[in-house]
Amino acid sequence: ADARRPLMAGNWKMNLNHFEANLLVQKLAASLSEKQLTDVEVAVLPPFTDLRTVQTAVDGDKLLIVYGAQDISTHKSGAYTGEVAGSMLEKLGCTYVLAGHSERREYHNEDDATVNAKVKAAFENNLTPILCVGEGLSVREENGHVAHCTSQVDAGLAGLKPEQVKQVVIAYEPVWAIGTGKTATPEDAQEVCGEIRAQLAKVHGSEVADAVRVLYGGSVKAANIAQIMAKPDVDGALIGGASLDAEEFASIARFKE
Ligand code: PEP
Repeated sequence: ADARRPLMAGNWKMNLNHFEANLLVQKLAASLSEKQLTDVEVAVLPPFTDLRTVQTAVDGDKLLIVYGAQDISTHKSGAYTGEVAGSMLEKLGCTYVLAGHSERREYHNEDDATVNAKVKAAFENNLTPILCVGEGLSVREENGHVAHCTSQVDAGLAGLKPEQVKQVVIAYEPVWAIGTGKTATPEDAQEVCGEIRAQLAKVHGSEVADAVRVLYGGSVKAANIAQIMAKPDVDGALIGGASLDAEEFASIARFKE
């Protein structure tokens, strides 16, 4: 995992206004040293309405924090009321965009084909997709979690070029561990992250598989991140609730210390 720079990405979900967003990025950057922000990549994923705020803070103060959006339209432009195009995100200086977060899959009926179209839309606009996969509780109880996640990965990456797959970030987020306070054990996280990498190697070759960063997500906090990051196939985390607290998120980014 040494060649892969750890990524800690904070998913703010539908939280924070302009003032709170500004305060949070400033505090987060002030809590981490230049070395810490070089060793570990720290990203925030605000609501669309806070992206300009975050861009202004990051550019204005040359913060070593990157940012991205929580969703992207599959369309380029046009009569799609309420949607936000990849070209708009690119112009706002976004680095990342989530594709297929479980809340999008569940509440907005995003299927694998839609998620795949979003991954492609990201690449068309020079954004790096963070492809989210993960099983619900019933699939886990039937022991179908590995097959479920590797199939979501295959579908999400269908039709990409090898050099694109290399850049993708994958987030394994067991749905039963998101926002519930139930963290998967480090062994659970490693099992699925390892199987995802093995599947990538099978489909895209080991050079590609070795380059892809696989994150864990689901009730990550400062108290559990070190054990999770100790696993060889876990290259970072996607953090919801805990990313809304600058000190907590900064402590997560300092997991090595
Ligand atoms: C998420 O939504 O991506 C997430 C992992 O949330 P939480 O950390 O709150 O469980």
